[in-house]
Amino acid sequence: MSDLPILIAGGGIGGLAAACGLARKGRRSIVVEQAAKLGEIGAGIQIGPNAFHCFDYLGVGDEAREKAVYIDALRLMDAQTAEDITSIPLDQPFRDVFGNPYAVVHRADLHGVLLKYCEDSPLVDIRTSHVVEGYEQDGSSVTLKVKDRDPIRGALLIGAEGLRSPIRQQMVGDGEPRISGHTTYRSVIPTEQMPEDLRWNAATLWAGPKCHIVHYPLKGWKVFNLVVTYHRDVQEAISGRPVSKEEVAQGFEHIHPKARQIIEHGSDWKLWVLCDREPISNWVDGRVALLGDAAHPMLQYFAQGACMAMEDAVALSHCLEHHGEDIANALQIYQEMRKVRTARVQMNSRLIGEYIYHPDDAKAAVRNHVMRGMSPQDWYRQLSWIYGSTGLDDSGVRAAAE
Ligand SMILES: Cc1cc2nc3c(=O)[nH]c(=O)nc-3n(C[C@H](O)[C@H](O)[C@H](O)COP(=O)(O)OP(=O)(O)OC[C@H]3O[C@@H](n4cnc5c(N)ncnc54)[C@H](O)[C@@H]3O)c2cc1C
Repeated sequence: MSDLPILIAGGGIGGLAAACGLARKGRRSIVVEQAAKLGEIGAGIQIGPNAFHCFDYLGVGDEAREKAVYIDALRLMDAQTAEDITSIPLDQPFRDVFGNPYAVVHRADLHGVLLKYCEDSPLVDIRTSHVVEGYEQDGSSVTLKVKDRDPIRGALLIGAEGLRSPIRQQMVGDGEPRISGHTTYRSVIPTEQMPEDLRWNAATLWAGPKCHIVHYPLKGWKVFNLVVTYHRDVQEAISGRPVSKEEVAQGFEHIHPKARQIIEHGSDWKLWVLCDREPISNWVDGRVALLGDAAHPMLQYFAQGACMAMEDAVALSHCLEHHGEDIANALQIYQEMRKVRTARVQMNSRLIGEYIYHPDDAKAAVRNHVMRGMSPQDWYRQLSWIYGSTGLDDSGVRAAAE
């Protein structure tokens, strides 16, 4: 491969994970980020065993493990009756099956672990306040166009600038993302503020008609992450707008008081309108490839967007290590490794939203009936393609990590 650096547009979880993976393989990269300071908003994310396989490959396993809270279960409650529907135990048998735990972590902590690795590495050059606009390429290099700055030349370019990636727009040209109409409100509160009878060591989902509530502990149990979602058919994409408690509570009158009280206890609520895109089968153009949300943005319902971005980073590093003498070919192999798995997660995220998170009436009764009958072993089988060795073998990630 040429001596030119690898260019990475976007310094989110995906872009930084790619820089870590490439540095581990001895590759130099420049991360180009529009923000003046790198960081993530103050909220939590769930990370499946597949993300832990990636942490180890990316060289941040111990640091990431240290920041995580190891919850006991994924608990699904009926938000109308406050009855348990099902619970997936995340105990030792789960870890034995999937080779790693399931956990929750503060976004800023996870991003911080990746950032520290990059900052400590002489192979990663991070340039903030750089707004990416597009690219040009010839047979031997690619040039990144940056607003009001000199262009940057590299051996290849990774577009990791998220849902509204300019690199994707130039390559794929599929316009604005699809607005789901689902509004999500997020709040992080001190644990003392969380109702005592709900301080469960679980990622808990209260599922109700057209709405749901999620909560779990973070930061060594110092805070609780609250997420409240309502399908309000909003047609405007909104990101991080502060909203009042009263606005969050609208439409939750039919929800059991035990679940509804969570809205009362939240503070500093912020609103997002969720967006995704249709899966596509080509996100590579010569020496340019997409990664993370730029390639396959999804609704949050499978809790896998960041996990998929990290898997992409592993697969990309693996392909460049083994096929880097022909970059265009290496990127095609990367895409082949990733496209079915990531499209499957995109599609499943929508289905889960419709049939598990938000169904009403007879559909909710079917959900409760089917899920109440499931044993831990049934769950392991259902989830093995995403969390387990067989699922990861499909993408080559587990194989690459070993
Ligand atoms: C409510 C919610 C809950 C979620 N929960 C989970 C979960 O539990 N588990 C999970 O795995 N995932 C979850 N996700 C998904 C996850 O947050 C995303 O999939 C993940 O952050 C994508 O990372 P990324 O690096 O690809 O993109 P982003 O995080 O969007 O990062 C893109 C970066 O590029 C920068 N950028 C953008 N445009 C430009 C430009 N023109 N020039 C330069 N830089 C630019 C941005 O500033 C940003 O730093 C959730 C998402 C939401 C909305």
